[in-house]
Amino acid sequence: MPVKIIRGDITKLHVDAVVNAANSSLLGGGGVDGCIHRAAGRELLDECRLLGGCKTGDAKITKGYNMPCKYIIHTVGPVWRGGHNNEPELLASCYRKSLELAAEHDCTSIAFPLISSGVYGYPKDKAIRVAMDTVKEYIFSHDDIDVYIVVYNRDRFEIDEKLYSDVNEYINANLPEMYSGSITEQEPRMNRDIPDDFDDYYDVMSIFSDREASVSEPLSSVQEYSTEKISFDDSLESMLDNMDESFSDALLHIIDSKGMTDVQCYKKANISRKHFSKIRSDVNYRPGKSTVIAFAIALELNLDETQSLLRTAGFALSHSNKFDIIIEYFIIHGTYDIFQINETLFKFGQATIGG
Ligand code: ADP
Repeated sequence: MPVKIIRGDITKLHVDAVVNAANSSLLGGGGVDGCIHRAAGRELLDECRLLGGCKTGDAKITKGYNMPCKYIIHTVGPVWRGGHNNEPELLASCYRKSLELAAEHDCTSIAFPLISSGVYGYPKDKAIRVAMDTVKEYIFSHDDIDVYIVVYNRDRFEIDEKLYSDVNEYINANLPEMYSGSITEQEPRMNRDIPDDFDDYYDVMSIFSDREASVSEPLSSVQEYSTEKISFDDSLESMLDNMDESFSDALLHIIDSKGMTDVQCYKKANISRKHFSKIRSDVNYRPGKSTVIAFAIALELNLDETQSLLRTAGFALSHSNKFDIIIEYFIIHGTYDIFQINETLFKFGQATIGG
């Protein structure tokens, strides 16, 4: 099931379990702990008193009281002491133990703050990495929980500086002077329907459809291809007969051609099983753009292949917005880690993919 990074106040979330970055006494403190105790009310402290504290890296559960969640899971993160004192392992253990407790209590959604990244001093970029890696590993073998990583409103969200500046440079090089020219002038190179290099295009198309037979005759030019496919004399019926594969068909086809299982694919795409079965069972399913991109990333499609898959759903990547350029950056660099891509999208204030 998907993991999402969101911005907000964790005490306001309607999820089954909210995780508290507590201290070992479990008797309340500052930061998110203080916010949670204030929001939940006095009874939370009463229940916490009965728990006998909690070790670093471990987690304990209470009711949610006046908070909108059913449960609060209290975990104690490590204090940052330079990174060589088992901090990453202890922090990962906080996420794992909390997820296990949530599962034992049949929770289907859980929200984490960035444990240890406040008073305990864990550098935020490193804390996010541990959070994402640990959650990612867990949800790979557990299908039934939605996980939210909550970045507090006031906090700067940090990703790797080098990645940030590379992506930033790429956006600046590719995002047109904001709409100084006409739309036609900005028509991106990749929005073309038929690429300059037809042979490459043929290779791309062959993984998207069963049409190898129909195009097995060598086609010498783009011209020939276009005449065959989009003749203006064609009746509507024959055009409909020659309709391209639907998104759903194309997707299933590529999954097979990549030798992946459905489960491997939707998990890597950060897409829920429920969402995937809707797509699978409806040949005319109309996905959102971010869903198509999530699958393109999971299937490690190159840029042309991604454009082809997007086209089956009526979309394209362009250079007219940051979101598309960021996606293009990762595809061009062969970085297909959806979680890293989402962190970057989030950092640039863009919607994340999958889910
Ligand atoms: P720790 O002692 O584990 O470092 P803190 O509470 O000091 O815990 O900080 C953990 C993280 O939670 C920090 O990134 C902090 O900014 C964030 N935080 C604080 N209050 C909230 C809140 N209400 N909702 C979400 N995150 C919060």
